[in-house]
Amino acid sequence: CGIVGYVGGRSALDVVVAGLRRLEYRGYDSAGTAVLADGGLAAAKKAGKLANLEALLEQQPLPAGGTGIGHTRWATHGGPTDVNAHPHLDNAGRVAVVHNGIIENFAALRTELAERGHALESETDTEVVAHLLAEHFSSSADLAEAMRQVCRQLDGAFTLVAVHADEPDVVVGARRNSPLVVGVGEGENFLASDVAAFIEYTREAIELGQDQVVELRRESVTVTDFEGKPAEVRPYHVDWDVSA
Ligand code: GLU
Repeated sequence: CGIVGYVGGRSALDVVVAGLRRLEYRGYDSAGTAVLADGGLAAAKKAGKLANLEALLEQQPLPAGGTGIGHTRWATHGGPTDVNAHPHLDNAGRVAVVHNGIIENFAALRTELAERGHALESETDTEVVAHLLAEHFSSSADLAEAMRQVCRQLDGAFTLVAVHADEPDVVVGARRNSPLVVGVGEGENFLASDVAAFIEYTREAIELGQDQVVELRRESVTVTDFEGKPAEVRPYHVDWDVSA
């Protein structure tokens, strides 16, 4: 139900958890996060309130890193359990993805992945995306390109945000019929389903258009369509009062 992504010089975990806090008003049943650090990917997720995730992070801290993603889930496929909470990872634990929306053709994709030897562990429609990203990444070594390829395989409504341990300074997002906004900072960039998640850091925003993929690095924001054609971006200034 809420998505946050961050790349920059701050603790990604702090930014992500603060952002998820800002999105709590939307309602959710589980929360989770993944950060890239020390050449690897570390994730934590928990059913229930954000406070449950924070308690888990206190017991089992994640390594500090400047690239991360987070999610609050409103379950549509699979009950509100720890395993079904996002992020979802590939079998090697190198890619993590969070998702809002519904992937209509997930059952067929699951069957195909299982036939190719992937072990899926959740009941969600989302998990197929992690496995598909891993497959495409293994040929292109480019997460944005892998995301475009995956999006062309998906039916339904989705906001997707992903990271890969082999591209430690990149966060990739995609949207179809579901909102996703970029927050543009200096030496840092943000992604969220709602500007409320990053408004305390920047008010410079870019709303992604329908069927677009964005690649975020510390110093750049690159937007294309699902075919890879560069898209025109229209930055805007968020000027509403957020003192609440
Ligand atoms: N369909 C996904 C799930 O059930 C995402 C739900 C959401 O938008 O939070 O896990």
